[in-house]
Amino acid sequence: MMGQPDSVPPALPRPGKQPPRYRFFLNPHPDVRFTRCPQCGAQTRVRKLPLVIHIDPMQLVALNKACRYCPGCDLLIAHQDELEARLAAFFSQHRPELVGNDYLVVGTEDRADWQRGVRRPRAIPEAFACLHDFAEVVRFEPAPRWGPA
Ligand SMILES: [Zn+2]
Repeated sequence: MMGQPDSVPPALPRPGKQPPRYRFFLNPHPDVRFTRCPQCGAQTRVRKLPLVIHIDPMQLVALNKACRYCPGCDLLIAHQDELEARLAAFFSQHRPELVGNDYLVVGTEDRADWQRGVRRPRAIPEAFACLHDFAEVVRFEPAPRWGPA
C-alpha cells in the first residue's frame, strides 16, 4: 500500500489563524488501520491530539483523538469510523439534533487551547484563532489484496 496520495482540494477556505500543520488523511476503510504509512511504508506512531471538526450548519468542536502519524511524511491519519463514533457520542449528549449532519475535519489545536475550550463554549472566531489548518488533505487507496499475478 505504498504510493503517492491524491490531493483533495479544501472544501473551506483556510480559516485558522495559526500556521498550517500536518498532511491529513481521513481513513474511510474500516478494515485498514494503517499501522504502516501508506506513503513510505514505515511504521506509524500513535499521536493523540485535538482534532477540530466543523459540523453543519455552524458548529465547531475539538475532540482529543488518537491518530496514526508518520513523522517522515508528516502524515496524520484518523480513522473515520472511530471519529464518527466519537462525534455521535458527543453530540448525542450536547446537541442531539446535529447527529448525522455533514462534517469536515478542518485542523488541529494545541493541547493548551483545547483544555481551555473544554471548560466553556467558544464563539467561532475565537475557535479559529486557535486553529491550525491542515497543510494538505490527502487520500490513499489501499492496494487490492488480490489481483492479477
Ligand atoms: Zn511515511
